Amino acid sequence: MTNQVDLIVDQIGQLCTIPAHEHGPQRGAKLGDLGIRENAAIAVTGGKIVAIGRRDTILEEYAAETRVTARGKVVTPGFVDPHTHLVWMGDRADEFEMRAKGATYSEIMAAGGGINRTVRQTRSASLLGLMEATKARLDRMLEYGTTTVEIKTGYGLDLSTELAMLSAIALLDAEHPIDLVPTFLGAHAVPPEYASQPDQYVEFLIQHVLPAVVAWKQEHWPGVLYCDAFCENGAFTLDQTRRIFDAARSFGLPLRLHADEFESLGGTALAVEMGARSVDHLLATTPEDAARLGASDTVAILLPATPFGLNITNTAPIKLLLAHNAAIALATDCNPGTAWCESTQMVLALATRTLKLTTAQALAATTINAAYALDKGDQVGSLEVGKQADLVIWDIPDFRHLGYRFGANLVSTVIKRGSVVFEQNLNT
Ligand SMILES: [Zn+2]
Repeated sequence: MTNQVDLIVDQIGQLCTIPAHEHGPQRGAKLGDLGIRENAAIAVTGGKIVAIGRRDTILEEYAAETRVTARGKVVTPGFVDPHTHLVWMGDRADEFEMRAKGATYSEIMAAGGGINRTVRQTRSASLLGLMEATKARLDRMLEYGTTTVEIKTGYGLDLSTELAMLSAIALLDAEHPIDLVPTFLGAHAVPPEYASQPDQYVEFLIQHVLPAVVAWKQEHWPGVLYCDAFCENGAFTLDQTRRIFDAARSFGLPLRLHADEFESLGGTALAVEMGARSVDHLLATTPEDAARLGASDTVAILLPATPFGLNITNTAPIKLLLAHNAAIALATDCNPGTAWCESTQMVLALATRTLKLTTAQALAATTINAAYALDKGDQVGSLEVGKQADLVIWDIPDFRHLGYRFGANLVSTVIKRGSVVFEQNLNT
């Protein structure tokens, strides 16, 4: 007897299922378990995976109206990108030119550049304009194999623009195939109107913006909403970060943190102590903090496109993190200042070089571990029965090509919740 399903993905030469480990991320020495099956097929119904197995068995047991063939190539879960700043207006291409000619960050700031320039442009944009600019970036991400994306606010830094950014994320989540996860990052930078009063800005965030964000969530967002902060010299101190985190936690918002990008201020220890879901950047992380991360459930999100975008050679202490059994994930950090990069393929290729991860480790860090970093490990990030059918058919004969090759889009087909949402125009 055959069971009728919506879709069968057939003729998968190499299927990377990338399983969760004990209902959690792949950690330490166990990072890189791809759960490979050959000559496989996947049956999908109602947007979810109902069976995975050898293709002859699947074709015996299931029949589908739609059959997509992988033509003997590689299939993986769709990428999960757990750290982006995708909603913004304008660009900073001229600052990139200034940097190439030797200008320092403070010179660029003095010339009116930096985050606050994007803040000015984002504040003056309409909601529709913001959505249109963001949609173009999401389309590119989908074409490059990403099916779940976290997006932070933090280019408004006032009440109305921060809420507009959240609205843009919620509206795009409803209309775009990619699933979105919002994060409130009011503590991204001190806005110009509070330039000499950072503590007053933190009070403004805690007294006025956070309560409004929580009220917005109650009305418009049934899913998880995180609170993030940028703990760094020139952004927010450890004490200011703690105040913001205390307030966020009193409202029930789970935490994430930008820490140790340039200097270690103690943000990682604070985030681990407060049970943050992730600590991100980690270029200047101390050995003690690497051990703290390893002993915790906080995911270490590494962003190798950012030092590449800044043309600096700093890297996260990857060996220590893995030796301490930390859960590692990778993300694009896509933003207009340091890393305008929508491609997780590029991040994966960088991670296999600058972080010296194997392609298998980097693949687990961009799928199952990234899903756990967004509390979505039970829904996406691996190809297992009961999970969402979010997957990519790659135009490559072996998964190792994902680390080996770079700069070209290797995607053949993207399937989201069991529907084909992108197909590359291949002459094969
Ligand atoms: Zn960031």
